[in-house]
Amino acid sequence: MKRLALKFGGTSVGTVEKIKNVANIVKKRHSEGNEIIVVVSAMSGTTDELIKKSNSISKNFDNSELDVLLSSGEQVSSSLLSGAIIDLGLKARSWLGWQIPIITNDNHTSSQITKIKTDEILNFISHGGIAVVAGFQGISSSNRITTLGRGGSDLSAVAIAKFFGADSCEIYTDVEGVLTTDPSINKKAKTIDKISYEEMLEMASLGAKVMQPNAVQAAMTDDIPVNVRSTFSENSGTKIIPESEIDYKKVVTGVAYSKNNAKVSIVGVIDKPGVAADIFEPIGKNNINIDMVIQNTSFDGKKANITFTIKREDLEKTLNLIEKNKQKINYNKVVHDDKLAKVSIIGAGMIANPGVTHKMFRSLADEKINILAISTSEIKISVLIREELTQKAVKILHETFGLN
Ligand code: ADP
Ligand code: ASP
Ligand code: MG
Repeated sequence: MKRLALKFGGTSVGTVEKIKNVANIVKKRHSEGNEIIVVVSAMSGTTDELIKKSNSISKNFDNSELDVLLSSGEQVSSSLLSGAIIDLGLKARSWLGWQIPIITNDNHTSSQITKIKTDEILNFISHGGIAVVAGFQGISSSNRITTLGRGGSDLSAVAIAKFFGADSCEIYTDVEGVLTTDPSINKKAKTIDKISYEEMLEMASLGAKVMQPNAVQAAMTDDIPVNVRSTFSENSGTKIIPESEIDYKKVVTGVAYSKNNAKVSIVGVIDKPGVAADIFEPIGKNNINIDMVIQNTSFDGKKANITFTIKREDLEKTLNLIEKNKQKINYNKVVHDDKLAKVSIIGAGMIANPGVTHKMFRSLADEKINILAISTSEIKISVLIREELTQKAVKILHETFGLN
């Protein structure tokens, strides 16, 4: 007998009909002799709607209240799915995060799971019951509802697999698995059979929405193999596993992108130690993530320009912080651009294959796509480009690196 953690995403439970379909999948997996813990997301669109409502009350809606609000989406889907499974003649029960409990830290809206109590659910599934756990939510030590960041049901599933010692963690979604790029912008995307934790973490962090980056990180840390697969087909999908178990034939495994990037350049700052620290300290303290950074120095070595990228939603706040800090940093002017995208190629095969960088830049140049900033790591290269060129860039890179 195997113990399975099965997670169904928002689109998979997006309508009552789809919930019934999921109930049938669960029934089938249970009838194969498995113990089943299901983790479920809110019905698609629900979380966005709730966020909109909170925004219309206040732009600074209290984060701990936001968590109470957002967690309600998963309460609805977990009860509907349990009801649908019961209706098929099986024993099922929903569990909200606080009822298990799934304990998290108190970092509201992006909490980390620290512990999950297992006895009640273990007892239930060992007597033939199917546990349906509301994803995305937990409870802090101060007894407040928390949530795990957007896409956080993936993290719930990995953590459930870990604490319950599941034999398999399966992420059911609306595509065939992890694809070589987002199929919604490139129809030539192909399903990847096996991908390493490291590559998946880069793909997810660089915009491939199919898995939440924190969930991949958690799976990597605890060596939990993850299977990403489709709710709407029987295909086997993608296995996320250690790099040592993969034989690399391709240099590039996938292409990812993220839109909504902004670039800020601070022109004419004095070129002396401590300036970059003075610029970035208040930004970091305000929880704004700095992504790429470029510094260029003038010919006389006295003045420098510092350029960095952030999420578009953080632009206004960042500009205000720089303005407030003007006395300390002492610059000539600030320029910014908020219609930018980051396109990345990812692949562990790059380590052993020089020449990837120039091939990437040449293929973009041939399409007249200007590169505004670059960042690299051992297994990825990212470029910043104008947002309207995203699809064109993704398609050309996908073709250039033999993924079509
Ligand atoms: P769920 O609701 O099941 O959690 P998500 O919407 O969070 O699903 O993630 C699935 C979506 O991720 C797909 O519909 C697809 O458009 C997008 N996506 C982006 N990049 C990739 C990729 N490389 N492989 C698969 N899907 C991707
Ligand atoms: N419902 C949450 C979201 O939309 C969590 C999830 O779907 O994984 O972000
Ligand atoms: Mg998701």
